[in-house]
Amino acid sequence: ALKCGIVGLPNVGKSTLFNCLSNAKAQSANFPFCTIEPNVGTITVPDERLNKLSELVHPERVLPTTIEIVDIAGLVKGASKGEGLGNKFLGNIRETDAIIHVLRCFDDDNIVHVDGSVDPVRDKEIIDIELQLKDLETVDKRLIAAGKSARSGDKNILSMVSILERYKKALESALSARTVELNEAEKLLARDLQLLTNKPIMYVCNVDEDSVKTGNKYVDAVRKSVADENAEVLVIGAAIEADIAELETYEERQEFLGDLGLEEAGVAKLIKAAYKLLNLYTYFTAGVKEVRAWTIKSGFTAPQAAGVIHSDFEKGFIRAEVIKYDDYIKHGSEAAVKDAGKLGVEGKEYVVEDGDVMHFRFNV
Ligand code: GDP
Repeated sequence: ALKCGIVGLPNVGKSTLFNCLSNAKAQSANFPFCTIEPNVGTITVPDERLNKLSELVHPERVLPTTIEIVDIAGLVKGASKGEGLGNKFLGNIRETDAIIHVLRCFDDDNIVHVDGSVDPVRDKEIIDIELQLKDLETVDKRLIAAGKSARSGDKNILSMVSILERYKKALESALSARTVELNEAEKLLARDLQLLTNKPIMYVCNVDEDSVKTGNKYVDAVRKSVADENAEVLVIGAAIEADIAELETYEERQEFLGDLGLEEAGVAKLIKAAYKLLNLYTYFTAGVKEVRAWTIKSGFTAPQAAGVIHSDFEKGFIRAEVIKYDDYIKHGSEAAVKDAGKLGVEGKEYVVEDGDVMHFRFNV
């Protein structure tokens, strides 16, 4: 399953955010290192289209799609040297597909800040440097290994050495690997390095209730400092979102959001942004038993998409019947779509698009 990792210094609101994002509950308390094991939770991906399809099909059940989220606590200054259980946490980050970096952008004298004051730009740099140092270690090791085989003149090895040298230069200047421009062939080679600072990243500014709509001076400072990173910056009030998540009914939650001047819960916005960050698409299956959303990576072919349901579907794939989401809504049923000549029959090469309603035919 695809995984997003939440990182940030202690006491910035990671566990609070994790709790309102996921169905699992992490312990959240005002103590650094309170969360020691990485907490893995499941995020339900909100999708309007799933509701619309269900209204047409009236299935017995409706199942949204999910992604995984990991709360990676314990990153502090010196983590790359093993401080504060550092290395273990850095290992947890390596296993994620994208990073959500939470920054404390709220004042609260009751909540201890590990570095004594609220300064999200400094906090971000502390974490960045730990990740960069770890990457530098990886790059140096690989350079030594590649140097030994470079004499062979192998084109891929020479190209790898050139990539590693560019990474090294960037990392030594306190720049993340993602700032290094690579061509497509180089990107493929570099993927294998699994550098921490090469993962897609999104910054989440955790603000107090009064700033969720407007932002504040801390958010402005963060935006300025990441302006050339081409990364998304989201503003969220984790504590207030946690309160909203506690409310029983949808109406109560909407009213609360309305009072804050928001149309949509911050967590919903965050989940959608994470989905985009991970380069994910959703396709649907729609039957009377079940209407369901499934997650695939963009670029998946029909058999690969079928494999997400069951590996047998991929192995025995014959063909897929495909209805574009808009056609389904326009005509109102599979039969009507068929009558209108809008049901596509696709083979193994078909690349699934976001929103496709799929029906797979396969051999068992
Ligand atoms: P973590 O160490 O980054 O996981 O931080 P936690 O989520 O455990 O939060 C640390 C403390 O800060 C807890 O007491 C939270 O209730 C509090 N907290 C989290 N978000 C906010 C916020 O937006 N505003 C305020 N005032 N407190 C917050």
